[in-house]
Formats: sequence, C-alpha cells, structure tokens
Amino acid sequence: MMAQYLALREEAGDALLFYRMGDFFELFFEDARTAAAVLDIALTTRGEHGGAPIPMCGVPVHSAEGYLARLIKAGCRVAIAEQVETPGEAKERAKREGTPSSKALVGRAIVRLVTAGTLTEEALLEPRRANMLAALAELRGAIGVAAVDVSTGAMVLEECTPENLGAVLARLAPSEVVVPEDWAPKDLGVPEDAILRPRTGFASDAGVARLCAVHGVATLDAFGTFTRAMLGAAGGLIAYLDHVGRGSLPLLLPPVARSSAGTMAMDAATRGSLEILESAQGGRAGSLIGAVDRCVTGAGSRLLAEDLSAPLLDTAMIEARLALVQFWRDRPIERASLRDALRSIPDLGRALGRVVAGRGSPRDLGQLRDGLTEAARLHHWLAGAPDAPALLVDVVGKLTGHGALTDGLARALVPSPPTERGSGGFIADGYDASLDELRGASGDARRAIAAMEARYREETGINSLKIRHNGVLGYFIEVSARHADRLMAADSGFTHRQTMKDAVRFNSLTLHAEATRIAEAGGHALACEEAHFETLVAAVVDAREIIAQTAAALARLDVGAGNAERAGEADWCRPQVLDEACLEITAGRHPVVEAALARTGERFVANDCALAPDNRLWLIGGPNMGGKSTFLRQNALIVLLAQAGCFVPASTARIGLVDRLFSRVGAADNLARGRSTFMVEMVETAAILAQATPRSFVILDEVGRGTSTYDGLALAWAVAEAVHSQIACRCLFATHYHELARLAETCEALSLHHVRAREWQGDLVLLHELAKGPADRSYGLAVARLAGVPANVVARAKAVLTKLEATREATGGIAAGLGDLPLFANLRDPEPTPPAGPEHQLAEALKAADLDALTPREALDLLYEWKRAL
Ligand code: ADP
Repeated sequence: MMAQYLALREEAGDALLFYRMGDFFELFFEDARTAAAVLDIALTTRGEHGGAPIPMCGVPVHSAEGYLARLIKAGCRVAIAEQVETPGEAKERAKREGTPSSKALVGRAIVRLVTAGTLTEEALLEPRRANMLAALAELRGAIGVAAVDVSTGAMVLEECTPENLGAVLARLAPSEVVVPEDWAPKDLGVPEDAILRPRTGFASDAGVARLCAVHGVATLDAFGTFTRAMLGAAGGLIAYLDHVGRGSLPLLLPPVARSSAGTMAMDAATRGSLEILESAQGGRAGSLIGAVDRCVTGAGSRLLAEDLSAPLLDTAMIEARLALVQFWRDRPIERASLRDALRSIPDLGRALGRVVAGRGSPRDLGQLRDGLTEAARLHHWLAGAPDAPALLVDVVGKLTGHGALTDGLARALVPSPPTERGSGGFIADGYDASLDELRGASGDARRAIAAMEARYREETGINSLKIRHNGVLGYFIEVSARHADRLMAADSGFTHRQTMKDAVRFNSLTLHAEATRIAEAGGHALACEEAHFETLVAAVVDAREIIAQTAAALARLDVGAGNAERAGEADWCRPQVLDEACLEITAGRHPVVEAALARTGERFVANDCALAPDNRLWLIGGPNMGGKSTFLRQNALIVLLAQAGCFVPASTARIGLVDRLFSRVGAADNLARGRSTFMVEMVETAAILAQATPRSFVILDEVGRGTSTYDGLALAWAVAEAVHSQIACRCLFATHYHELARLAETCEALSLHHVRAREWQGDLVLLHELAKGPADRSYGLAVARLAGVPANVVARAKAVLTKLEATREATGGIAAGLGDLPLFANLRDPEPTPPAGPEHQLAEALKAADLDALTPREALDLLYEWKRAL
C-alpha cells in the first residue's frame, strides 16, 4: 500500500492527495498536516514510515465537497485518487498475477485534479460569479489569451500586447492562469502562482488540432478568425484541462474571438479604484455591481458582471442593450411576470457544464428539463411581442428548439430526480416496460415478505416476530431471546444467523428466495436506469450548443429586466451615447454612495458635469470630505454603465464614447499596498500619459499627494498640463493645491470648480455641491475639528497657519512665478540630435524602406546601393 501511495503521491505533484479508502478520503504525511490545519480537523497517525509514525487525517467521501471547497479557497489543489476496482476484482487480479489473494490491494488511480479554475460542482462555485481559467501564449511579441468558464463552457480567445496583458487579466480576473513552463511568471504581470505547463501544449497547430477535435470540425473557419497566438493559448488551455480531468474534458463551447478593440480599455488600477465587481475591502458589498445588480438568476448576475467588466465601444450594440432595458422599463407588469418566471429557472449553463463534464446527476437532467420547458414557455409568451426591440427578438428566438429533448427528459424522469444516481429511482414509472417489470418483481417480493411476516407470527404464535433488513445480513427474521428456542429446533424450518443481547436472528428458505428476487430485480433495475441515464446524457451532450445559447438568452433577458428594475427604483435615465467628445450629465449620482447614504436616511446631493471639447478639463478644489472623489467616480461610473448598456443614475446623460477609462487616486489613499506608494502613483500616472487618447476619459484624484508639497504640486501641475495640451482628453482633476488654479490662465479648455462648504457658528458644513470657480480656502483646520482633533491642537495649528500665510503673502506663495512658465511643449523626451554621416543616412534609409512592398530583386539592388554608399 505504501508503494502504491507513494507512486500516486509522486504523480500528484504539488496537489494534496485525497487517497480513497472505503468511505473516506485519507491524507498522509505533509498533506495531512496542511489539510488538518486548513480544515481544522484532527490530525492522527497511522503505521510507521522510516521509523516515525505517519501523520494522517481524513474526510468522509459523502461530505468531501465541502472540505474540497475550503481547501481550494485556501489556495490548495487536490488530486483525487479513487479505487478503480472492487476488492473482488483485486483478488481476481492477484490470482492471475500469482500473488496470494490476502495481499491483494485494490487498484487506485488519480481520476481528477481539483483546482480553482476547473470546478463544476455546484457546492464549490459561487452562483453569481463566473469562474475563469486563463492560459497565455506568446508569439513574436503578441500575447494570446484563452479564457474559459469551465462551469458553463464559454470560451473566449483574444490577443493583446505585453503592455496590455495586465489590463486583460484584470478584466478576466481568472482563478487560475496557465503559462508555458519556461515563461518567467513575474514577466508582464503574470501572477506568481501561475501554473507552469510543458511548452509543447502551447504550439498553435496543436491548438488548432485540439479545438477541431473538441468540436468535431475540420477547420475553425466557422467560429471566426483567430491569430496564431490565440490558438497557442487555446492549445495550452485544453492541454491543461485534459491533464486535470485525466483525459476527460469539460464542456467547451465554440471559441469566440474577442478583439480588445471592441471594448473600453481599463487597466487594473482603474478597475480597482472604481470598485466595479469588488469593493476595496473585497466582496460585492460596496461595489458597483453590488449597487446595480437586480438580476434574479446567477447566470444573469454573471452576465452583468461581464458587461460591466467590458463596456462596449460600438454605439449600435450599446443602443441594442439600452433598447432592451427600455422595453422592460416601460412594462412594469410584464417585467414582474418575467422576473417571476426567471426566478424559478435553474442554472441551465452550469447544469449543462456538469452533465457534459461527466459529473452530472439525475437532478441536473431534471434542471435541464425544467429550465428548457420554462424557456419554451417564455418563448411562446414573448414571440411576436409588439414593439419588441431587435435584441429581444434575437434573444427570444433562442429560447426554443428543444422540444424533442425536453419531451424525452419529461417522459423519462420522475418529477424531482435525486442528486445521487447510484441508488436509482429517477426514471419514471411507465417509461420502460422492462424496468417497470423489474420494479414490479421487487415490489411483489417485498409484499410477499410482508405477508410472510404475518404468516410466521401465526405459525409460531410469536406476535413480536419481525422480518427486518440491514446492510450486513440483508433480510432476516428476528425474535426476542426468550422466544428463540422455538425457532432453534432442527425441524423448525429456520436457520440461526446471529444472537444479539436481547434478540436472535434467523433465516428461512422462503425468505432467502424472496430476498434474492429483490436483490436481483433491484440490481437489474439499477443497471437499466443507469443505461437510460447514459442515453439521456448523450442526448444532452449532442444538444449542448443550443442549450448553451438558450442559457445565454435567458441571462440576457434577466440582465435587461434587472437593469430596468434598477432604473425604476431611483429614476435612472437612458443615456445617449454619441460619437463626440462630450460628457454632459445633469443631476448625476454615485450609485454606491447614494445607496449607503439612503441606509442612514441621508440625502445624496446630485451634481452636474459638462465637459466639451472647449472645456474638457475640470480642476476641482474644496475641503477634504467635500465630495470631490465621489463626484469624479460617479462620472466615471456613469460612463462605464452607459457603455455597458445600462441606464444611469442621472436625470439626463449625453456621453461621448470613451475608448479608455483611467482612474487614479493619490498615493495616500493606497497605503495598504506596501510598495513605495509614491512610486506606484507615478507608475500609474505614467501609464495614462503613455496610453490615453483624445477619446479617453481620465479622473485624477489628488495625484501628486504622495510626496512633498513642492514635488507634488510640480508633478500635479505638469500632469494637468500634459492631459490638457498633449492628450487633450476629457478629464476631472481633484486637487487640494490651490496653486493649480493658475493653470486656468494658460490652459484655454480648463475650468475651475469646487465643492462648496460653509462655516456656520464655528462649525464646518459640507454641502457636497459642485460650484464654478476656484476654491476660496481649504478649511483644513475646520475638517480637523470636525474629525475630533483636540481644540488646543487645532488652536496651535491655527497660529502656525497664520504665520505661514503671512509669509506667503510676502513672497507670492510657492507658485509665484509659475505664470511665466512657457506652456508645456512636448510630452516625450527631447530627441537626441541625430549623428550625421553615412551610417546615419543608411539607418534612415533602412527605416524608410517598405520591406513588404519590395521584390527580392529590388531588395538585393537596395543592398548593393547601400553597400556602395558606405
Ligand atoms: P473628498 O474627495 O472631497 O475628500 P469624498 O468624495 O471622499 O470627499 O466624500 C466624503 C464623504 O462625503 C462621502 O463618503 C460621502 O459620505 C459624502 N458625500 C460625498 N459626496 C456627496 C454628495 N454628493 N451628497 C451627499 N454626500 C456626499
């Protein structure tokens, strides 16, 4: 056993080994220590190895899922080693191999690796979150990214540049990332715990072959156009799935190519600071999706998360989603019926995922039956709805087409099939005559046994005689000890089986005969149900693509109706998305802050925003806690929601399409991150200056704060100027540096704003209201008092401030003289003067040559010419 264990242990690599022994999965050695600590279960010992006791712990097989979930959450991977033969088979094998059968060891094999990115079990997944697995491949400077949600089979392939990989991974938020083994994980923002796999799996032709094999096609043309890098990543992904599933693949739907050009770009820092799917504290509470999501199904919530992670750039597609929301917004009664119907629909995509992965249960089949039947009912209701927008028509069309499958499932299955298929009982009566007959036979035998009990009581005169059943003896006759003698007699027709403290157990020939009938019929019935199960699974597998389409259509309906519901709750409006560089929002609100205030009965003050090509940078001053950050973020979130196809928290919104969204927060708010925070701030700011375009929208919150006043002001000044004059994009810039107000003198498209505050009877009143013009003063001391800084300290600070202000008056302040600074001229470093001479000319000629346009002959001529020039 030790040899078998150690071989499996070796094979499991860095995963914990769950070693099946009867009704338990046992863990040994280091695995046992790790698991016992994570799971908080008893660590014991068993036997010895190398003279020392072997640490051991175990979990019962029937409740293993819960334990697995905790191990996976704690970052472990688990290899499941199952018994792959029965003790009987092991003995047979031992006999054949000539080993004594007492030494026969049940064969075991690793049947599966359970990893964070490859889960399908309901208990291990969060219903409202996609669970992504991503693989990366690099090909001549392009990075291919393949991502799949194994629980639903949805697979996306994309390509990005090394610089954008961080942003792509931030959008996908995969639970696991797989890369070729010789890829240094730290490169390019690949997570350090990325799984390293053999490079051969990542070859692009291997990817093509694997995709073709999975989908049973000769070419991938019908699925779209994929680059070599994408195909390499897909190959690596499928090879990994094959590895963890030990040769059995989960559900994989045809790959969809996603071009990063189709969605709004947001890098990891922006996603983090906007708290789109998770708040800074972690979790949905306090995040954008937490405040927006009114979906009634898990699949709907997952699709909404996808929408919010990847806002669109195509106005037609955005309009299509908005029209769907509008449709349900205008029909509150029908919306309520739709949502009621959706609420009762099981998670089709995930049930399908389990069935195709070979881990489906009769209950999953029942869910597919119920879900598809309900979808067909919705189709019947919604098809031909007057004034239906195009997206609704499209979605409704995908709700049907499963008639034969649902009929088959409906006839075959009992109304609520069990989650366990081993004990049968899920095939309905009347579906299969031979199964009915087998069930009839065991029913007859059961009745015969019941009748036998009555007869034996009469014959023996023992009224307390019982016929009972247990797992060890099967059926037996039981009488109390004092009556036992009567049955012990040799001619009684009873044979003794077991003597207990108070009772004695017997068998009889007739009982044995009936019990055998039950066992045989039962065994045949089970086999018969199992065969039907396989057939039904095969039918589902055949229809997997259209079932997945129906599941996706239901999710889209749920998102549309959920967004309409959310819009109705607080009068959100339908945004206008345009192709011009404007951002006009009246009475905008921050959905998360507004909801938080509403809980304590406070009112959110709505504010307008009006950016236009000639007024595209707003500099916003005012006291701390005055509402600057909130205003910045609410506008970014409104843009994001609009392009995701949602209604927005405002009275009106005209939004010029934003290609890239950047949100930056001054370092002081990010102290928890460890690295030199000012460094982080500057790295992130540098990314904006390198990547933003005139169509981008940038919010900068107190950038420059992470360093000394002079450095900070200087940097903030230069960054604001660059955003204004070089990038010329829309930007909201919150700052507490009054001095920046002087930028208004030179930057014609920059205007000054502030959040209003008032001092009233010595107290500071924050109005959270945005007004035009520079902030008059900072109210820093008033905020300090508000925050509970002791009065004597505030008084001392006031004395210091008066002194400082006197110096400032005398010298003109730290920004004196900045007005004379010539306007920031060039964003890039000044080019070094090029060296003259033939080498330089040659280099220039080479740079200018269009190699693709040359014939080999012309290229050769060029070479000669250049050689002569030297
Ligand atoms: P700043 O960035 O100016 O320091 P914040 O935007 O962080 O200020 O706002 C501080 C607090 O003020 C928020 O947590 C919120 O409770 C409240 N607040 C902000 N904006 C508003 C608003 N428009 N209406 C009501 N309360 C607001």
